[in-house]
Amino acid sequence: MRCDQCNTPIEPGEEKEHLGRILCEDCHMDALSPPKGCDPWAVYTAKSCEARAGGNAALTPLQERILGILKETGGVEPRELHKLLGGEPRLKDLERELAVLRYMEKVRGEKRGDRVVIRSW
Ligand SMILES: [Zn+2]
Repeated sequence: MRCDQCNTPIEPGEEKEHLGRILCEDCHMDALSPPKGCDPWAVYTAKSCEARAGGNAALTPLQERILGILKETGGVEPRELHKLLGGEPRLKDLERELAVLRYMEKVRGEKRGDRVVIRSW
């Protein structure tokens, strides 16, 4: 038998049921107490929490590009960054990426005069 969540083999008798799914002990604990602060971006939850826990989650290619641009430029406004990325992804999606990166403490906002730029740490 395998965990529905992480696919880890489960010893007979060790399996837990949660909302109709069979989970290993770890996933069952997670399911019962979702980590605080890791909820807003469901898709990124695992990654963000990993980053918090392990410090070195893999970045997506887009996130790598964003960090590369920020390092080259020393910091740009989100709209400028959007332009430098060639207009991809949509600004809304880019903002979400930046939120994730900020959460992972890869980038931060910095006030320069009346502008707020995004820069790498
Ligand atoms: Zn599991």
